[in-house]
Amino acid sequence: MNRVTETAHDTLAQLPNRQVFFSALGHRLGEASAEARMLGLLVCRLRNLREVNAELGYEGGDELLAGLAARIGRCLRPVDSLARVGSAEFALILPRLVGAGQVALAANKIVQACRAPIACAGGTVRPRVIVGGALYPDHGSSCESLLRSAELAAAAASESGEAYELYSPQGSVDSLPMLALEGELEAAIETGELELHYQPKLDLGSGRLAGVESLARWTSASLGPVRPDVFVAIAERSGLILPLTMLTLNIALRQCRELAPARGAALPVAVNLSPAVLNNREVGALVARAMRIWDAEPETLTLEVTESAMMADPAASLETLKALRALGVRISIDDFGTGYSSLAYLKTLPVGELKIDKSFVQNMAGDAEDASIVRAVVDLAHNFGLAVVAEGVEDNFTLERLAGLGCEYAQGFHIAKPMPAEALERWMRSTGARP
Ligand code: C2E
Ligand code: CA
Ligand code: CA
Repeated sequence: MNRVTETAHDTLAQLPNRQVFFSALGHRLGEASAEARMLGLLVCRLRNLREVNAELGYEGGDELLAGLAARIGRCLRPVDSLARVGSAEFALILPRLVGAGQVALAANKIVQACRAPIACAGGTVRPRVIVGGALYPDHGSSCESLLRSAELAAAAASESGEAYELYSPQGSVDSLPMLALEGELEAAIETGELELHYQPKLDLGSGRLAGVESLARWTSASLGPVRPDVFVAIAERSGLILPLTMLTLNIALRQCRELAPARGAALPVAVNLSPAVLNNREVGALVARAMRIWDAEPETLTLEVTESAMMADPAASLETLKALRALGVRISIDDFGTGYSSLAYLKTLPVGELKIDKSFVQNMAGDAEDASIVRAVVDLAHNFGLAVVAEGVEDNFTLERLAGLGCEYAQGFHIAKPMPAEALERWMRSTGARP
């Protein structure tokens, strides 16, 4: 293996970084061009680093990376070189190739070597590694373009479920914007560049502020603002949903702690959990940890789970919901009325609140049928001992109707639109709204 990587076996810190990698690649590209030879570039991405960091701490994650670097190093020829180019990403330069097939052989060897579990932080972890490959001169002639091609190939691998993909200019044209967006979203989550907006929830009995719902906002550098249901779907598809959820939960708990009156309890907040999170066994422990970090009283946290998510995999959902309920937090059934579930089944789940979907509430004033559905849901929920939130309240008539029906909470543009934390603070001050 090349001189710059001789120490890779010892520690992660000694691996060449992105800068050193670029200068080595530049040198090798010059050589390849002069000798009219092919060069291969592999990008090797560890997909479960975040989960390992969350579970075993950064030391565990570093141990895993160092173990992987050592294994990858053992697959290489003396002329090859290895560098760490991102927090969970290695790049490999394979100079002086005699055929394109060599890149696939190297990638395959690496994938095999990385497959076995690695001991770290007192446990064992099974690394999830994907590899993307690109060739000089076919897929790029500069350092940047070649690395970009290899990164797109790695993204294509994560999309296709294959452990290795070679860059293909034709095959990936359609998915290019999506892949780029995935990368952008991943970076945004990593650097915490998501913003949360908060929408007040009114207690119809007392007229006081009951709490807020947190709603994520993201502005992509290339596309501008992206709707939350869209980027949540991208996150679900690309394995980013757990980090995204934990980021939003942590931001929400921190900001609602900051918004509380001095030494008072935190502002109650509801956080949305996506269906994909509900099937994850670690969620209970991760939520418990976030609550400890931000010193959150369980009564001040509500987790909103959609009706269809609860129905998608009832057994797995039940396990996760029980673990969350055991923490003392409130579970709310979101978008109620849009699925086909029976309330009798939902009642067997550890839930405490039901949110009537805005599609029924919005039209209550003008549509007698919607109004009677809302009335029926409120009565039924009360019979099962559940509190009711009506979302999508857009006018005063609806607000008064809901209060008359005995609906406990209301949320909607008529009360306030979702807004950033600073605006919420001003809103609370100017309206005198207090929990
Ligand atoms: P949701 O959980 O049902 O959130 C309520 C949506 O209704 C929000 O849209 C909110 O802005 C909107 N809304 C509130 N009041 C009214 C009203 O009076 N009229 C109308 N027409 N709309 C109203 P938003 O913020 O665009 O979020 C859309 C969806 O994206 C959310 O639906 C939720 O499913 C998802 N989402 C948002 N933030 C997160 C998040 O942090 N995590 C997850 N997993 N999903 C999120
Ligand atoms: Ca919601
Ligand atoms: Ca909803």
